[in-house]
Amino acid sequence: MSSSETGEDRYRSRSLWLDTCDDDLTPRAALGGDTSCDVAVVGGGMSGLWTARMLRDADPDLRIVVLEADVCGFGASGRNGGWCSALFPTPLRALEARSGRAAAVAQHRAMIDTVDAVGSDLTRLGIDVGFARGGTLAMATDPAHVRRLRRAVAERHDYGFDETDDRWLTPDEVVARVRLRDGGPDATAGAAFTPHCAAVDPARLTRGLARSVEADGVVVHEGTRVLSLGPGEARTDHGTVCAEVVLRCTEGYTAGLDGHRRDLLPLYSMMIATEPLPPEAWEVIGLEQRETFTDGRHLLVYGQRTRDGRLAFGGRGAPYHFGSRITDGQDRNTRVATALTETLHDLFPLTRDVRITHHWGGPLGVPRDWTASVGLDRRSGLGWAGGYVGDGVSTTHLAGRTLRDLVLGRETDLTRLPWVAHCSPRWEPEPLRWLGVNAGRVAAATADRREARTHRPSAIGRAMGWFTGGH
Ligand SMILES: Cc1cc2nc3c(=O)[nH]c(=O)nc-3n(C[C@H](O)[C@H](O)[C@H](O)COP(=O)(O)OP(=O)(O)OC[C@H]3O[C@@H](n4cnc5c(N)ncnc54)[C@H](O)[C@@H]3O)c2cc1C
Repeated sequence: MSSSETGEDRYRSRSLWLDTCDDDLTPRAALGGDTSCDVAVVGGGMSGLWTARMLRDADPDLRIVVLEADVCGFGASGRNGGWCSALFPTPLRALEARSGRAAAVAQHRAMIDTVDAVGSDLTRLGIDVGFARGGTLAMATDPAHVRRLRRAVAERHDYGFDETDDRWLTPDEVVARVRLRDGGPDATAGAAFTPHCAAVDPARLTRGLARSVEADGVVVHEGTRVLSLGPGEARTDHGTVCAEVVLRCTEGYTAGLDGHRRDLLPLYSMMIATEPLPPEAWEVIGLEQRETFTDGRHLLVYGQRTRDGRLAFGGRGAPYHFGSRITDGQDRNTRVATALTETLHDLFPLTRDVRITHHWGGPLGVPRDWTASVGLDRRSGLGWAGGYVGDGVSTTHLAGRTLRDLVLGRETDLTRLPWVAHCSPRWEPEPLRWLGVNAGRVAAATADRREARTHRPSAIGRAMGWFTGGH
């Protein structure tokens, strides 16, 4: 992405999805001066827009204003891997320790229900995102992965999730779905499978939501940066919005807001996409249900077969930037793109002959305890949603429904879930934050290299669980 990119080009170049979404990315009108409303939503990503959608559906008289610094979908929502999954970043065990077993299970069950809820809301709203509920394959692409993938399935069964939720597939069952390494012998030692995931086009989802809320009377201002939030107001570079309720939905960008620098750490995830593969290639590769896929390595990789027949493939490994800095230049990283391309070539050798047409990335929000949260302080009228650690596509929908209930003062099953009103500790000040996060990244990469050499689980990997959850 060149620094000279402006306007539409600047937005289109952020991802395959934004590039191909067929929407006019010219920013909507900015805020035209001071104004007032009932609910001001800061951030035009999936969190902000699902929240606006749910509030609008529940109370058509509410005056809702969305304030977006760039354009809706500019952030992670327009750039992600398109896994609409039931993943919640906090493991069951950790949630149980904090909130009890029933609450932990309720949170994870709510995530499963959310995958279908996203699908039916998109159908209701007429937003076509190529929703394909093919599930997720977490493959053992090295024998070293088997034990921890099997343990993850067993742990979920311990909590009452059954074979219809998570199960182990034998190598033959995996080959029936996907031919890794051209279906060569020993290409996989099995896989954990869950049906609870749909592949989607995230930019079409986000842009479609923006159009749908606007059509129903929500005011959406783009090119309007919120400088600070306080009880009853959001101060922007184009005027101040006075509102009874102000909702912070800025996720990976939260550190840029006054007073929130250490709330959520911006962690970059990067992606590449191939040109559309010919049907003969898909006959070899498989993924006919458009199953999303990952494997058992520590430095996470993830992919989907897109509706137009590409492989969109992403992973962690980009550095954390000192002081939680976020700039346009960080949205690409040649070293990570090269590593992702090599991994894709290893997993699907047929892709060696196809062009990589897109490379991009973006920040996602990580709370210090890896626990996403949603909440509303009734006294100040300030609310928030975020910290999904890369599992935000469906979680934002759960967040939107929950914020709706909180804003409307309803006590529901949603408002009783353990992530509601959860306050994560703040991140350490620099340079500790930079040292710790980047050391974790290097350790994960080292563990993966060792496992690829020895085909045995690495002790370093066992010692650190840091980069293994979410995307
Ligand atoms: C490369 C990548 C791959 C991912 N893959 C997946 C995946 O496959 N599945 C999954 O579940 N999750 C995935 N995620 C995470 C997921 O995309 C996010 O959790 C989710 O999109 C968060 O939505 P959001 O609306 O909270 O934040 P965002 O989409 O980041 O939206 C925040 C918005 O706020 C705006 N903003 C920021 N600061 C201000 C301000 N001061 N004033 C006004 N507006 C502001 C931004 O411009 C942005 O549009 C991925 C993320 C990345 C980066």
